[in-house]
Amino acid sequence: MLVNKSEIESYHIWTVGCQMNVADSQRVDVGLNKLGLIKESNIENANIIVLNTCVVRQSAEDTATGLLGKLLKFKNNDKRYICVTGCMVESNTKNLSQRFPQVDLWAKPQETSKIIENIADYLNLSSEGCVENLIPKRSNYTEFVPIVQGCDKFCTFCVIPYRRGREVSRTIDEIIFEIETLANNGTLEVTLLGQNVDSYGHDLNPKVDLSDLLIEVEKIPMIKRIRFLTSHPNDMSIKLLETIGSLDKICESVNLPFQSGSDRILANMRRGYTRDQYLSKIDQIKLILPNSTITTDLIVGFPGEKEEDFEDSIDILKKVKFDKVHVAAYSERKGTYAFRKIDDNIPVNIKRLRLNKVNRLQEEIQLELNNKYLNSVYKILIDGKTKDRFYGRTLGDKLVYIKDINASDLGSIIETEINEVSPYSLSGSKI
Ligand code: SF4
Repeated sequence: MLVNKSEIESYHIWTVGCQMNVADSQRVDVGLNKLGLIKESNIENANIIVLNTCVVRQSAEDTATGLLGKLLKFKNNDKRYICVTGCMVESNTKNLSQRFPQVDLWAKPQETSKIIENIADYLNLSSEGCVENLIPKRSNYTEFVPIVQGCDKFCTFCVIPYRRGREVSRTIDEIIFEIETLANNGTLEVTLLGQNVDSYGHDLNPKVDLSDLLIEVEKIPMIKRIRFLTSHPNDMSIKLLETIGSLDKICESVNLPFQSGSDRILANMRRGYTRDQYLSKIDQIKLILPNSTITTDLIVGFPGEKEEDFEDSIDILKKVKFDKVHVAAYSERKGTYAFRKIDDNIPVNIKRLRLNKVNRLQEEIQLELNNKYLNSVYKILIDGKTKDRFYGRTLGDKLVYIKDINASDLGSIIETEINEVSPYSLSGSKI
């Protein structure tokens, strides 16, 4: 049975996974806040717990299931209302409910209204006015803004289209309103998010594209920098690259996943391009945006990946020299085509060896690339502090630690001379 309702007054939201999940959680946060509930930073003290899950990688799924196990303990010891949302939630939740009986509500990604309405019902509150216009009241210098949800691509290894559905774009007006609100709260840099951000706007009437949106965001005076994530090689157009090059505030940093360097594996992944087509796209980026940084995503140990297929991926890493590689060992994702039809036949130790080889090679490449920054001056937007150092990013998204600045410099763009580098970051001094 659920709780003594008089005890319920606070909530805690636990988010696992990508920036899209963070953005979804921020909307739930606004809705619960509008209901009059109090945010509780310690999960153990919260009466209502919303767990926003990710199952794109095995490690994220393990984190979510581990936490659900802990919540079972809470539930047995105490009285709580537990909602689980995010990519773990399938259309049919019967199996999940049997596995995790401690959960009171299952809500698919973006079912924000369902979460707010159910919690309101449970507390005998009215949700009127609490489910519309959920614009997060954020005040960080850098913020993430979802512009298109879902994905139409159906790569064989990926669960996103099944859990987040087909692509649905927000209108330009809605996005601009949100970014202006952020800017009024002090935000200086926005990252426009989509699982396949380059396909933004094709589903709107009239159709628009990412270039149209970037031109409008560029006009917001308080916004100084604009980024976007994640691109698909088939949807990154010359028009988009030229738009990035022509606008002052668009950061020249491109995340273009290649996933495999082998044509045979790319076909089995149903990525829709060959290695040569991918490399041509990289050539276009380097030609039109010569100062851009390029990052990528790569899977090692996809079913059937032979040593020569893996070496094709290594060859792409050596040819392109990416600034960063998000590399993961293949793990089966329930519900995908690969899960249903392709045997996960690469042993774990081989996957681990390939992962290590990529990481070692990337360390060398990143150090080589970062060395080129030494003794040059870059504009860094200072947006955070670790224990003892302030940090920010270059236009190309390089992390830079800066000496001899203080809290009053947060939110400033500071000219910085780079005098130390590692494969993962740069360090420098204000000039
Ligand atoms: S394009 Fe990206 S999000 Fe879409 S199915 Fe492929 S890997 Fe998943």
